[in-house]
Amino acid sequence: AEARRGTAFTRGRRVLAETMIRDLHAPGAPSPASFGRKAATLARLHAMGAPTMPGFAISAEAAARFADEPPARVLGGELDAALARLGDEALLAVRASPVERAWGGPHAVLDIGAGAGRLDALAARLGLRAALDARRRLIQGYAVGAMGADADAFEAALHDALKDAGAADEAELDAAALERLCARFLEIVEDETGAPFPEDPRAQLEGALQAMARAWASVSARLLRVSRGGPERGGLALIVQSMAMGLGEGLSGAGRAGFRDPNTGAPRLTGRMLWQAQGDDALSGARAPVLVGREERIAAGAAAPSLEETAPQIADALRALAERVEHELGDAHDLEFTIENGALRILSAEPMRRAPRAAVRIAVDLAQGGAIGRRAALLRIEPRMLNELLHPTLAPDAPRDVIARGLPASPGAASGPLAFSAEAAEAFAARGARAILVRVETSPEDIRGMHAAAGVLTLRGGMTSHAAVVARGLGVPAVVGASELSIDRARRVLRAPDGRVFAEGDMLTVDGGAGQAMAGAAATVQPEFSGPLAQLMAWADEERRMKVRANADTAQDARVALGFAADGIGLCRTEHMFFERGRINVMRRMILAQSDEDHRAALERLLPMQRADFAELYRVMRGRPMTIRLLDPPLHEFLPHGEEEIADLAREMGVSAEELARRIADMQEFNPMLGKRGCRLGVTLPDIYRMQARAIFEALAETWDGDQIVDPEIMIPLVSARREAQLIRGHIDEVAAEVARETGRAPRYRVGVMVETPRAALRAGDLARDVDFLSFGTNDLTQMTYGLSRDDAGRFMRDYVNAGVFPEDPFHTLDLEGVGELMLIAVERARAADGSVSIGLCGEHGGDPASVRFCELAGFDYVSCSPFRVPVARLAAAQAAI
Ligand code: PEP
Ligand code: MG
Repeated sequence: AEARRGTAFTRGRRVLAETMIRDLHAPGAPSPASFGRKAATLARLHAMGAPTMPGFAISAEAAARFADEPPARVLGGELDAALARLGDEALLAVRASPVERAWGGPHAVLDIGAGAGRLDALAARLGLRAALDARRRLIQGYAVGAMGADADAFEAALHDALKDAGAADEAELDAAALERLCARFLEIVEDETGAPFPEDPRAQLEGALQAMARAWASVSARLLRVSRGGPERGGLALIVQSMAMGLGEGLSGAGRAGFRDPNTGAPRLTGRMLWQAQGDDALSGARAPVLVGREERIAAGAAAPSLEETAPQIADALRALAERVEHELGDAHDLEFTIENGALRILSAEPMRRAPRAAVRIAVDLAQGGAIGRRAALLRIEPRMLNELLHPTLAPDAPRDVIARGLPASPGAASGPLAFSAEAAEAFAARGARAILVRVETSPEDIRGMHAAAGVLTLRGGMTSHAAVVARGLGVPAVVGASELSIDRARRVLRAPDGRVFAEGDMLTVDGGAGQAMAGAAATVQPEFSGPLAQLMAWADEERRMKVRANADTAQDARVALGFAADGIGLCRTEHMFFERGRINVMRRMILAQSDEDHRAALERLLPMQRADFAELYRVMRGRPMTIRLLDPPLHEFLPHGEEEIADLAREMGVSAEELARRIADMQEFNPMLGKRGCRLGVTLPDIYRMQARAIFEALAETWDGDQIVDPEIMIPLVSARREAQLIRGHIDEVAAEVARETGRAPRYRVGVMVETPRAALRAGDLARDVDFLSFGTNDLTQMTYGLSRDDAGRFMRDYVNAGVFPEDPFHTLDLEGVGELMLIAVERARAADGSVSIGLCGEHGGDPASVRFCELAGFDYVSCSPFRVPVARLAAAQAAI
């Protein structure tokens, strides 16, 4: 029994150990949850015949134990067996393979095994120079990565060696120089770490494994992950592979290639590499990189021939492989490669980073090519990303007062006041102006400011700098690396090369598509809504159940909304029509009239204006649903401000300024948003709503074309009692009958209420019995549910969100727990009372994807949002329905 237990125990150990290591060339894919994404992808690459290097992955669970236990003890004989499969000769690389996305895992340690005892064998294989090059790389890489030495000392020694040899860069150092450099590096290791460099290959490997596991678990790495929005802990698997050398005989080098334009998604060979190089040398900036693609080389005006020109067969092989990877892995990937004496080796494939426009194009291409389904394509696009595709660009003929050029880091054009700090950009945003944030370069602390800014301009940095990456992600236009500009800190001005200076607040424009910074504000044109985006939206429309309407007050808004394929108008705020020039004073006279006669006279003047507005809107919206809301705001919002305006109006009305000022003062309310507004106006001053109803019906008669051309939905705001809706509906029905008698054209219309008060939500069952539709005005409903002024909340909302009091600003994304619950109660009661009542939402939340999702799940008939957000809502509605 004892013996049997012993065997079972040993067998159990072995099973456990086997699950700790996976051969990357063995059949079957290792699970990303255990072995990380990089390992899983490498195994798939091998399975599709890509030339990957042999190697094995160590599970995240096992690697986590390396922090306290030597890897050899954790892995036991499995490590020996796995290493034996790679052979004694191979130099090894250890790479990080995070379980989730790459959240800044530790750097790879390369050339493991290039110890003193292996030098001769290595020289016989690669040539002496390359062998020594590999060795000095190992000494530095291992000392920094595994022994905690400071990289600067090595860089300084390299710098001295280059100077002594009169060499421009390390590729020019000969064997003798490299040998001296290795000797110097060994001294530095001892000086820096107090320990000798371990020459034993096995000790190097185990040291690298342990150091990388520890680095991942360190406090600073955890903080970094969290600051990038990643997991604090998360797993890190490790990969051990034979080195693809990139050094030595023939065509040898290393780099990364991309196969689509990161801004547009169009197929294009991009990327950087270096001859006689390894790992990320090409990205380090120590040597001028060789461009991978010929077209890109020509566009950049670079002299050195591209990889595509030097080795067209390798470029072709990369391209062919990328196509297969894209199809089989279902996404566009960048390939990390090494060329070893003319032979291509693939080290990794990572999903390419892309701007929103490219993301749409790639998703649509993949679905059209059959690599993924249409639904998968729809689910890949974060609805908010569309915002950026809908950004204006500069008018082609707009004068451009260019002050400097930089890299076109994030597409779209924007103008705004110059802000030198993230705080200044946020302060501008709080005052309603989105700024152009100008920084030498940006860092994670600037993200909030970048969010608040209309555009970003940096003096330093490349296409993958923080500013570029973050701006693309946010969809904020950005120009980076505009190095001709300088910031004069003492005077707090931006200095252009032509001597002009710009202070904080001066208007600037950036064109993130052209890479230009301009003085002043420039004219923009609306984006085109075609190509892959139009295709994606067509698929979205096939999937979605819920309608998406637009909040549009004017014929111009309505045209924009139709351009974005809105299904109708969900909210026409009629008060906006009264602010126009030539009308506001008529409105004021109506409000401030003392006699019924004056009041009526003013209304009679307003009637044809309203009628004309509606007629124009009907012609644009022909055949589509259109919700017209009766007057909502407290009347004092229309009144004149300041002595001059009051004096003007007094003259027009033939009363003294004092008298008028007294009438205005009489109308003051302590709490206007909770005062005489919305349907309370309709109940107490019914003539106003009657005039509006008349305008709505007369406009139908006026635009009659065999039949009325739209079926208006008349909406009553801020209802809280059933009787309010009944009274106002009574007026509307009466006016409809009058207009029918007068014109001989009986209108078809529906009447509904806005659910904007908690009481209306609770009594929605009653309301539904008297009206045809309910529309949630979630701006007011949020305001009233929280008892939080929508006009004042902005002053402290940031503090509240930062302190975690509110998870998000409830005026931007619906508070599902509170406001959402009220809405669900309302929907349930309304539907129970009258199953045919339609239900919509027309607050700001109608363009917020999470809120749209809620509405879909709650069975709403439609959401309505500002015209520019219609595509976002269409996609969000489709995703929620999938
Ligand atoms: C609302 O309150 O959500 C609404 C749509 O109306 P307004 O924003 O005009 O008050
Ligand atoms: Mg409202």
